Amino acid sequence: MKLVFASNNKNKIAEIKQMLPAEIELFSLQDIGCTEDIPETADTIEGNAILKANYVTEKYGYNCFADDTGLEVEALNGAPGVYSARYAGEQKSDKDNIQKLLNELSQSTNRNAQFKTVIALNLNGEQHLFPGIAKGSIIFEEQGEKGFGYDPVFQPEGLNVTFAQLSMEEKAKLSHRGIATRKLITFLKNITL
Ligand code: IMP
Repeated sequence: MKLVFASNNKNKIAEIKQMLPAEIELFSLQDIGCTEDIPETADTIEGNAILKANYVTEKYGYNCFADDTGLEVEALNGAPGVYSARYAGEQKSDKDNIQKLLNELSQSTNRNAQFKTVIALNLNGEQHLFPGIAKGSIIFEEQGEKGFGYDPVFQPEGLNVTFAQLSMEEKAKLSHRGIATRKLITFLKNITL
């Protein structure tokens, strides 16, 4: 089955590809010749996932799924949330975002946070949503070199290492996107049986 993942993020594509059953052929935006910046103008994580999936299905006619993720920090009333990518500005820099987050939390003893992913799937004229949440906390300085985004400062519940200290496979077992992706995969396996 051919399916487009509405992303060009190599880390995400690799994370998801290694979890998909072999019968699903995954295409990136680049693979289908979609080079434009897809608008992410919704004010919720769900809304942005839906916008991205609908853009590809409506413009290119493919079955498609899209994900959107945000980091929700308790002491910041859920910020940066849907604005996680551009938290420190339009340059969308991971380093700048982490720095801003650590600054905002410098006086806070409440370090609770969660990553939330929503995957929106458009398949044969129907839309399905798959959420995934990973709870954890924000540590005081970066640790680890792997992963991307806020991984170096996010410690998942029950571990004392960050997502950036885990291999891709270990991270996928625990992560928001891993959880949402497994729901997507279970769904796809059931309908392709
Ligand atoms: P998006 O879902 O690609 O738009 O990501 C929104 C923001 O969350 C970006 O700053 C990403 O770097 C960050 N992000 C998304 N997924 C992860 C993750 O698995 N770990 C750490 N940061 C992430």
